[in-house]
Amino acid sequence: PELFFPERPNSMGFDLSDLPTLDAIDTARANFKSVKTTAHPLVDGSCRPEPPQPVDNPFSDEDIPGTIATASAEDVETALNAAKPWSAPPSDRAAILNRSADLYEQNFGALFALLAREAGKTPQDAVAELREAVDFLRYYAARISDASPVGTFTCISPWNFPLAIFTGQIAAALAAGNAVLAKPADQTPLIAFEAVKLLHEAGVPVSALQMLPGDGATIGAALTSDPRVDGVAFTGSTATAQRIRRTMAQNLAPGAPLIAETGGLNAMIVDSTALPEQAVTSILESAFQSAGQRCSALRCLYVQEDIAESLLEMLKGAMKELRLGNPWALSTDSGPVIDLTAQTKIESHIRVAEAEGRLLFQTKAPKNGNFIAPTLIKVGSIADLKEEIFGPVLHVATFASDELDDVIDAINATGYGLTFGLQTRIDDRVQHVCERVHAGNIYVNRNQIGAIVGSQPFGGEGLSGTGPKAGGPLYLTRFCKPAPAEKSS
Ligand code: GLU
Repeated sequence: PELFFPERPNSMGFDLSDLPTLDAIDTARANFKSVKTTAHPLVDGSCRPEPPQPVDNPFSDEDIPGTIATASAEDVETALNAAKPWSAPPSDRAAILNRSADLYEQNFGALFALLAREAGKTPQDAVAELREAVDFLRYYAARISDASPVGTFTCISPWNFPLAIFTGQIAAALAAGNAVLAKPADQTPLIAFEAVKLLHEAGVPVSALQMLPGDGATIGAALTSDPRVDGVAFTGSTATAQRIRRTMAQNLAPGAPLIAETGGLNAMIVDSTALPEQAVTSILESAFQSAGQRCSALRCLYVQEDIAESLLEMLKGAMKELRLGNPWALSTDSGPVIDLTAQTKIESHIRVAEAEGRLLFQTKAPKNGNFIAPTLIKVGSIADLKEEIFGPVLHVATFASDELDDVIDAINATGYGLTFGLQTRIDDRVQHVCERVHAGNIYVNRNQIGAIVGSQPFGGEGLSGTGPKAGGPLYLTRFCKPAPAEKSS
């Protein structure tokens, strides 16, 4: 599809290997180290928030980054009535989204502080997340056309990318001229609140972008079952996406779009020709960066048996070097998992494996904070993984040289298809494997996380999502009404 407005290049981000840059980051966020954000619903007209609740810092019980007043049933009703598609001319919408991107960049200190304190993000992750949010705004701004919006969109986003995915959904819906009702994740409403305020400051009308914080069972359910809603964008678990699909089918117009990005059981195959250092670095980043809390993260590693022992030894050595700790610190490699519920669930998965004699290796974690020590668990095959474990736990299987196609079949048989990694130096094998594996994002001889807006659109197939891919040329089309020619066919 064509570009309608000049495309601005992706954000330059921050070079964390540069000392003056590190100083600048430290100085900019220092002012926000103990600021309390008072977040509440942002509803056009009236607002009757529930009493404020403290928001947790996943690293520290002592730090309360702010409070959140969740939306009431009346807030939802008011918001649904007040929602008005954004009727400004396409060029104005593009300019305002670009201005929003600039405001995000200018406010990096406040945003980095909240990413650390509310979401447990390390500086490295926070830099990548801000870049991605800014890139989404600019990318969709350049692709705004005169197509008609669908109407009112509910956008439900996850805590693991509380700025980037939150912004990406909203930016696409707004670019197409829809009204947006945004429900951020329960765990991360503060950064969402700051983001919406910046979007309003840039010129997005308050009737076109409203925010309704609250839990999925009440606010999420209300926002996906009301016939005044014309479409839903959702990122989260496969089970929740399926529930939303059923709710929409019963209550919304038959054609109402659902754009869902969901989970994965992502695999990487490392054959005996792979470069060991490159494979280990790729595995380490894919499985353990962001404490494994990415949909794209590596969950099941398949190593060819000839090299398994030596590769795993190297991997264990590298895992021991990972520095777990306060996400605020510039030297931290990995922060905590998001909350106690997540920690308990991941721990119990590890304990089951341990009881079955399949715990291969585990490093040490700090005592305070919701930490999980990076862990290796032995499995016979990816089929042994019954569900996505959203944390720093890597399952490891081996294969013999004549079993490659069986491994591919097993990966495809999970029904998921989000990311896949391959480490090999055999060119024909790259083609052979990549043609057969069902996955939205395939990465060869590198890590399999950190998709880049525009150059690596992100999204899966099967149980992993509906498409079109976020940050790709077709994403906006789902937020627009089909052109008349498509309608009549
Ligand atoms: N786009 C992210 C990545 O490539 C993952 C998004 C997600 O976890 O939902 O790592």
